[in-house]
Amino acid sequence: MGEDVERLKRRTPLLEYLRQHNWAGRPAGRFEYVGLCPLHKESQPSFYVNARKDVFYCHGCGQGGDLIRFVQLSSGLSFRRSLASLDPESAPKADSSAVIEEAATFYQQQLDRCPEALDYLHRRGVHDPALLRELGIGYAPGGTLRRYLTAPSHSFDVLRRIGLINARGADALYQRIVFPLRQGEHIVNLYGRSIGVAFAHRFLPGSKGGLYAWEKVRNCAKVILVEGLFDYVALRQAGFHNVTCSLGTQLNREQLRQLCEGERTVYLTFDVDQNQSGQQAAEQLAHRLVVHGISARRVLLPEGHDPNSFFVQGGDPHQFQSLLEAAQP
Ligand SMILES: [Zn+2]
Repeated sequence: MGEDVERLKRRTPLLEYLRQHNWAGRPAGRFEYVGLCPLHKESQPSFYVNARKDVFYCHGCGQGGDLIRFVQLSSGLSFRRSLASLDPESAPKADSSAVIEEAATFYQQQLDRCPEALDYLHRRGVHDPALLRELGIGYAPGGTLRRYLTAPSHSFDVLRRIGLINARGADALYQRIVFPLRQGEHIVNLYGRSIGVAFAHRFLPGSKGGLYAWEKVRNCAKVILVEGLFDYVALRQAGFHNVTCSLGTQLNREQLRQLCEGERTVYLTFDVDQNQSGQQAAEQLAHRLVVHGISARRVLLPEGHDPNSFFVQGGDPHQFQSLLEAAQP
């Protein structure tokens, strides 16, 4: 804060500010200027500015201080708001992360109240309440977020900019299971999985961040990489803790960097779909990892399966372990 104030004052000397605001002072010494006081009514000039010290003093009303003090007195604003008025960039911005955090909390609270959401989780084989809590999984019923987020900093514009609502003010995440995506301490994005007919996957605008829950596995010598969060949940429930998720088959630069930051073997466990897109992506990624000196193996699930459906349809941890052991480079 102090540094910002100093920088701001260097950029806008008091005398310059006063002149921009039509103060007519005349020289009254080497660095001094005198004129009528802008802070009180007077006919004889008693308002002095010392340009070297960058301060003012009025012998009429007894007020004095620096630029910020002058703005406070002349505009009636608080210190903080005076600063903001001088430097629009320093104006306190609503912290996006805090707003997303609040939205995530709201969605978590909705989960237990919405049977359709619990039904969907049940169908996807999600049954561990402790894991639901650990991951902060929630549900966006739609149409209610703005009523919940009513704090003044959460204006329409802020929610719109973050992407939590659309231009008409409607919730962007509607009838979706919501996973908060964290990077370190902060939620950087939300992933919403449609439980209805809408397009399956949705993120807020901006980066999806790095690999999911990377902090938990970054020191593991063997890491299982899956493409979907429901795959992640299925493996965690099955007792595999060295799992992470790339939220799609195309890794961003940060995710690739994370996988390559230490010596390890990565078990690529992408969907085995009919059009082969999951396996092609796994093959390309395996090649990229090997180029970076990382050992990569491709786990081949039965035809038509992803890790989630594998477990939902009766696969057990021993069978999956066998698949890991059979994985090919
Ligand atoms: Zn005065």
